[in-house]
Parts: sequence; structure tokens; C-alpha cells
Amino acid sequence: MTFTATILTLYPEMFPGPIGHSLAGRALAEGRWHCDPVQIRDHAADRHRSVDDTPAGGGAGMVMRADILALAVDAAMARRPDVPVLAMSPRGRPLTQACVRDLAAGPGPIILCGRFEGIDERLFEARPIEPVSIGDYILSGGEMAALTLLDACIRLLPGVMGAAHSGDDESFETGLLEYPHYTRPREWEGRTIPEVLRSGDHAAIAAWRKSRSEDDTRLRRPDLWERHEGARVQSPSGARREKER
Ligand code: SAH
Repeated sequence: MTFTATILTLYPEMFPGPIGHSLAGRALAEGRWHCDPVQIRDHAADRHRSVDDTPAGGGAGMVMRADILALAVDAAMARRPDVPVLAMSPRGRPLTQACVRDLAAGPGPIILCGRFEGIDERLFEARPIEPVSIGDYILSGGEMAALTLLDACIRLLPGVMGAAHSGDDESFETGLLEYPHYTRPREWEGRTIPEVLRSGDHAAIAAWRKSRSEDDTRLRRPDLWERHEGARVQSPSGARREKER
């Protein structure tokens, strides 16, 4: 089973786009994943191939029609049954590294990309489509959101990152931000690399990294820190650790 991304979009030429380069691009050329963009307009019935109409209730912009999108979604689901069907939407469940891991372990999703004001809500009632958001801001379309989600998945596919890099202690994998990185030159604009990182003492380095990871998360992302602390206090091993103190 090769991870396949089926993308339903008004702009199929945007794919693979940036994920046709670098790590993801090499993996694509090696056949480690497939990119399958579909033009939604191919499912429109009229001469103008229109997919949108004015919003019910009035207001600015246009709304993507449920009937046309359903034809595109149904055709994709018929070709690829039993794969997750997502729609990029600022009203969706926030994308997390845990969702990315789940998706990367599967056959690869069908992803519907919105444009204009968004998608007629009845589509979500009538089809098993999960809306997914990449963050609390508004993009002009779902394509960049889909590319972001796919980039995050593809780097986790077997053989893509290489054995040198498991990604295990990266930001969010542990529920914390990762520790900061340094490289040569040893001194730059009067600043040196933290002494401990040059000590060769692996235990001390690991302890420094853990403490920076915790401090930075507490200061920069109190939301993550609170969740991390909550989980630690609740888990049996966490409770034991608390007692040992
Ligand atoms: N009027 C909508 C925004 C529409 S933006 C609202 O306020 O909720 C047009 C399309 O861009 C959306 O249908 C969606 O596919 C995509 N999009 C915009 N922001 C996004 C985000 N944060 N995450 C995922 N997709 C997004």
C-alpha cells in the first residue's frame, strides 16, 4: 500500500507544487507516495462548469455547491473506498501531530479544498467528511492547508527522512516544544554555544535539553504546558514520580 493523496480542488496545478521538492519531492520520485489531484469542475454539469452560487441569506462572496462537490467526493470514494475523507476548513478540528501520525500510518486521505466563502454545510451532514483546520487564521483556499497537512504526513513515511533522523524528540511528539539547536561556528557575534553541548557528557546534554524543552514550553506555550502537566499528574507513572520527589 503506497500512501496516496487524492486532492479535490479547483486548482489541481497547485499539486504537488512545493511538496514536489526536497524530501517530499524525492520521495514522490521514488514512488514512496502518490499525488492524485482532481479538478472539481470536471463534475459540474453546465456549460460554464460552475461549482458555486450566492450565499443563502445574503452576504458577500460565493459558496461551493453541495451537489457538485458530492459528485466529486463520491467518485473519489468509489475509486478509493475506506480511506479518510477530509475537508480543509477553519471550522474543523485543529490538526495536531497525533492526527498527522494517524494519517501517515494509513492509505492516505481524500482531501477536499474549499474556496470562496466555503462549502454548503449540507455536504458535511450527508457524507462522512471530517473538517480539519490548520490554525486560527483564514487562508484564501484549502490548497495551502492541504499541502501543509500532506507535507507533515509525507516526512513520516518509511524511508523519507532516513535512518539518521527518527523525529522522535521533535516538538509536539512529547507534548513539548523541542530544545533549541546550535552548530558551528563555535563563536558568532560574541555568542558561544552553551558549554554543556560541547562537554561530550551525554547525560548532562540530555538533562540540559529536557530542561530547556520544559522551560521554553512553559514560557512560550502555556497551553501545551498545562496539558502536559495535566497528563503527567494523571498518569500512574507520573503520580509515582510526584511521590518520589
Ligand atoms: N468564510 C470562511 C472562510 C473561507 S476561506 C470562514 O470564515 O470560516 C476559503 C477556504 O480556505 C475554506 O473553505 C477552506 O478550505 C480554506 N481555509 C481557510 N482557512 C483555513 C484554515 N485555517 N484551515 C484549513 N483550511 C482553511
